[in-house]
Amino acid sequence: MAKINPFDSALKQLDQAAKLIDLDADTHDRLKMPMRELHVSVPVKMDDGSTKVYEGYRVQYDDSRGPTKGGLRFHPDTDINEVKALAFWMTFKCATVGIPYGGAKGGITINPKELSEGELERLSRSFIRQLGDFIGPEIDIPAPDVYTNPQIMGWMMDEFSQIHGKNCPAVITGKPLEIGGSEGRGYATAQGGVYCTINLAEKLGFGEGSTVAIQGFGNAGSYMAKILTEKGYKIIAVSDSKGGIMNVEGLDPAEVEKHKQGTGSVQGYAGAEDISNEELLELGCDILVPAALENVITEENAGNIKAKAVVELANGPTTPEADAIMVKNGIVVVPDILANAGGVTVSYFEWVQNLANYYWTEEEVLERLKPIMDKSFELTWANKEKYGCDMRTAAYVLATERIAAAMKARGM
Ligand code: NAD
Repeated sequence: MAKINPFDSALKQLDQAAKLIDLDADTHDRLKMPMRELHVSVPVKMDDGSTKVYEGYRVQYDDSRGPTKGGLRFHPDTDINEVKALAFWMTFKCATVGIPYGGAKGGITINPKELSEGELERLSRSFIRQLGDFIGPEIDIPAPDVYTNPQIMGWMMDEFSQIHGKNCPAVITGKPLEIGGSEGRGYATAQGGVYCTINLAEKLGFGEGSTVAIQGFGNAGSYMAKILTEKGYKIIAVSDSKGGIMNVEGLDPAEVEKHKQGTGSVQGYAGAEDISNEELLELGCDILVPAALENVITEENAGNIKAKAVVELANGPTTPEADAIMVKNGIVVVPDILANAGGVTVSYFEWVQNLANYYWTEEEVLERLKPIMDKSFELTWANKEKYGCDMRTAAYVLATERIAAAMKARGM
């Protein structure tokens, strides 16, 4: 099968909302193309003394609502179309939850698991030198994404600060706490997803004991498993890049994590049966949570999905064709631009704390995150009822109206 271009999927998602609200053609045209696309070479001195050059990207999609914001991904399959799509989704995500940012994303085509710690640090610093003056606290603010983490953000913040001769914590979010990270940022994406799940549960009559399958056991997926377990949900399956595990009686996420730390994968966990990632997606459960990569729910498997609801912690896990099939089958999808927006919202809090140089407690972070997620969910649900559409289109309506209003207010 030909590789699905996620940017094509992203534009189709916008088209549906644009049609519903009769978006003017000029605004629609502006939103079809990124504002700026950077392609950089990232040279790295390897431990053996040789120099390798990797391909890096940063796409700043639209800044009508504020400086652009979005993560950096280190992955062997990352390419410009993926980064463009991810930057597009960030633009609409920030607008859906009403935080004052545009959208961006970046990445390097690389398998970071093959690098030593020293090589990874030199790669991260080299990337920041290449992005140079195109990023900054009032311009574009990166963050972690797949296979990047707080330590990498710390190196990047340090490199930017050294270049500029002053401490610049607000240039990047997702940093370690010791250098201006925010309480709660580590699990914020999952926490936002949990608030959405609880709101959805009230609408659909789920609750304690409802069953959940989670694809991807990284930052987003593993915290989702832990927090939902604390709320009384039963996690019956999880997976990572090597495969998945299942136990219909429920898994203990903390024990699964220990196993993964010891062996490198969730597979082989004593209290469960090994399954494939494909099988996980098609399990009978109440809620399916894709929390890994794009294009995993396609027209090939959408008809086999038995979950009653999908909560998209991953960006772009569902193709437009798969969406149509799930809508027809009555499966409610909480879209990525709402479901995983807790991460960028707490990143926004981190940036605010850095600029004010005044830091909040974990309780204060959660007290501010919950109302934003709850309100965004309610506004999306209200649009779904108003237009008789699915939740993704409803969220795009909300976001597109906000971006269009910002463009108009600027006189563009
Ligand atoms: P991560 O690197 O911490 O974890 C990724 C997980 O996906 C790992 O468990 C990995 O083994 C698994 N994985 C990789 N390839 C896979 C495959 N082919 N099949 C199944 N599993 C696979 O990354 P993360 O930060 O948890 O990000 C996961 C998703 O959530 C991405 O789509 C990301 O864009 C999205 N997201 C993350 C954040 C955040 O704050 N970290 C915020 C919003 C959205």
